[in-house]
Amino acid sequence: MTDAAERKMRFLYALRSKGVTDARVLTAMEKIDRGAFVRGLFAERAYEDMPLPIACGQTISQPSVVALMTQALQVGPRDKVMEIGTGSGYQAAILSQLARRVYTVDRHRRLVREAQAVFETLALTNITAMTADGSFGLPEQAPFDRILVTAAAEDPPGPLLAQLRIGGIMVLPVGQSDAVQSLIRVTRTETGFEYDELRPVRFVPLVEGLGQD
Ligand code: SAH
Repeated sequence: MTDAAERKMRFLYALRSKGVTDARVLTAMEKIDRGAFVRGLFAERAYEDMPLPIACGQTISQPSVVALMTQALQVGPRDKVMEIGTGSGYQAAILSQLARRVYTVDRHRRLVREAQAVFETLALTNITAMTADGSFGLPEQAPFDRILVTAAAEDPPGPLLAQLRIGGIMVLPVGQSDAVQSLIRVTRTETGFEYDELRPVRFVPLVEGLGQD
């Protein structure tokens, strides 16, 4: 077996051992090369199950967390999905394999620009990346079938709840940034919202306003 094939096998094995069982999610994780989203010194660690630093003092999440969040979101092929927190663009690329259309938003212009360049290289044409304060969502594109937030807020932001379609699902980390956070799943019903707590996680905070760069 080549080194690359062995590396991929180990990468997928680590995901399965962390509880990723959804075949569509595993296929997406196999197809999208995480190495394309990590630069410089850390690029050689792209296939390890750990978060890594990216530009603007942010992080690309751990692959098993990306996969478990994607699995919890239960994305279907006709879904319109919004992600808050583009970061490297890796999570959006995974979602693009499962959804009809992905809108992804980051408060740092530079991250959006760099992620867009990778989407172009990989010919991921169903992703739209935008610079904006994601706490307000994208009212002009709402409602969404699925919403994924990859930065932690104290509570689910009201505008995001409002932009979720009835029957829609949102997955997000909640809690204080420096304390324990939980990944939760919110389902919008005809009459309100249902909340499930999924697992403890650690994300960078959801910050108000646009970034400096
Ligand atoms: N999903 C990313 C990792 C996200 S790290 C990946 O796959 O690589 C969290 C990201 O959330 C950071 O890039 C940060 O800039 C962004 N962020 C934090 N607060 C935000 C806000 N209010 N609106 C949009 N993006 C925000």
